[in-house]
Amino acid sequence: MTDPDPAAPRPSRLVVLAGPTAVGKGTVAADVRQRHPEVWLSVSATTRAPRPGERDGVHYWFVSDEEFDAMVERGELLEWAVVHKRARYGTPRRPVEEALAQGLPALLEIDLQGARQVRETMPAARFVFLSPPSWEELVRRLVGRGTETEEERERRLETAREELAAEDEFDVTIVNHEVHAAAEELVGLMMLDDEHSFDQ
Ligand code: 5GP
Repeated sequence: MTDPDPAAPRPSRLVVLAGPTAVGKGTVAADVRQRHPEVWLSVSATTRAPRPGERDGVHYWFVSDEEFDAMVERGELLEWAVVHKRARYGTPRRPVEEALAQGLPALLEIDLQGARQVRETMPAARFVFLSPPSWEELVRRLVGRGTETEEERERRLETAREELAAEDEFDVTIVNHEVHAAAEELVGLMMLDDEHSFDQ
């Protein structure tokens, strides 16, 4: 690792949003994207197929397994993980570094495995856990989405159980009662300057 440049903006402007599957991380991030253009949102690369309405370069960079392998080999990903034991997802490093160099508040919406990797490489980032109002509500949201098969749902619930247990690893928790409110709370945290304590 190289020594940090003292003149560079503090990487504490980097916020990592994680939480269990189907808690609404993607929806909260989309709300931030729509209503807070001042926040820079990382676009992940993924090997999964696009869902209807998803656009390449906006929601994800949809890449082949070979392209993903090449990105990993070239060290282009800040973190990456296999999510739900199926597809690979990763954060392109360069755009994040450029956003931080410009002093933009930057948001990564990634899974827990990825968040743990970022904690290793960028410990000054702020780690936000998005939690469901309750386990029952999480199950309802997961089933309600209706885009997964029974087997896929089971797999996601299993992942969710493990992910809920990781809340203590995070700096702060936002409870996702309602999307706009959670997004506002998140942006509010991102706009805190370094003088203010992030602890709760
Ligand atoms: P979905 O396929 O439903 O869009 O996302 C599945 C999961 O992948 C979500 O939990 C999301 O947070 C996670 N994810 C999306 N992008 C990334 C990424 O770049 N890295 C990691 N580690 N997880 C990601």
